[in-house]
Amino acid sequence: MFDTGNIFEAHSVKEAIELLRSNPGAKLICGGTDVLIQVREGRLAGVDLVSIHQLPELTGVTMEADGTIVIGPATSFTHLAKDPLIKKHLPFLGQAVELVGGPQVRNVGTIGGNVCNGATSADSASTLFALNAKLRIANSRGERVVPIQEFYLGPGKVALGQDDILTAILISREDYEGFGGYYIKYAMRKAMDIATLGCVVLCKVKDKKILEDVRLAFGVAAPTPIRVPAAEAVAKGQVFSEELVEQFGKAALTEVNPRTSWRASREFRLQLVEELSKRALRQAFSNAGGEC
Ligand SMILES: Cc1cc2nc3c(=O)[nH]c(=O)nc-3n(C[C@H](O)[C@H](O)[C@H](O)COP(=O)(O)OP(=O)(O)OC[C@H]3O[C@@H](n4cnc5c(N)ncnc54)[C@H](O)[C@@H]3O)c2cc1C
Repeated sequence: MFDTGNIFEAHSVKEAIELLRSNPGAKLICGGTDVLIQVREGRLAGVDLVSIHQLPELTGVTMEADGTIVIGPATSFTHLAKDPLIKKHLPFLGQAVELVGGPQVRNVGTIGGNVCNGATSADSASTLFALNAKLRIANSRGERVVPIQEFYLGPGKVALGQDDILTAILISREDYEGFGGYYIKYAMRKAMDIATLGCVVLCKVKDKKILEDVRLAFGVAAPTPIRVPAAEAVAKGQVFSEELVEQFGKAALTEVNPRTSWRASREFRLQLVEELSKRALRQAFSNAGGEC
């Protein structure tokens, strides 16, 4: 049994906002794979819940006229990985979310919950950083759009107020068109485990050998997911080579700040930062049409 208070089921975003506003202690719940763990552990014991589970206006993936891909935050990982728009334009995001938990968690857990829980280990977050994702947030006073880099404030802390609801994850055409990518999750087990380190590289390749654009992002390499502009600058505009891959791996170390935890030491994570960025660059280059 879960020790919850009232459970309110919202039938629209507007109603969910009103329920959160009029119940100041209430917590938003979508798939519940994070929230219900906290209820069971006692951290949220007795809490009132406002559910947006499977609200149609928050679920699914669409494309706007200008090519912006709009991901509904209540879209489950299973849905996302199979979605035709994701498969065609953002296959590396589908690949990343297929590494979350196991099938049961992926059937219920959502990309919005993954971002809003503020965890640096969230498997979708580093790829969304590399994609320069923007987050549309609604509340009783209106709507705002926040770059994902500004949304993460610290470990488990995001820029959401009591009646704020993430209503869309937006990916602009210029941030995905022509890009290939690859996400590597290093964990102790192959499934049902949180990332010890997550690393994604996205790149655009010209004439099969020049890295026209390169993006590198990590989870668990700092208190929040991060981009590594110094490494991106080393590779951008360069002809792909093994020498460049080595330089890229070294440059990746310059802007990370991993910690020691029971999962791994800081030193081991630093080794992963260098090695995984090299492996992810090689695979992303190939996925983007590069040839050695
Ligand atoms: C067994 C198990 C294994 C797991 N393995 C992984 C893993 O490998 N990788 C990984 O990244 N995660 C993992 N998780 C964590 C979890 O499944 C994910 O973080 C998931 O994405 C959470 O989504 P949810 O819809 O269940 O979130 P919920 O639990 O419903 O909500 C999570 C948080 O986000 C807020 N929230 C949800 N939706 C919105 C919204 N639209 N607007 C504003 N706030 C919102 C909630 O208030 C809450 O604070 C695992 C969890 C379990 C139980």
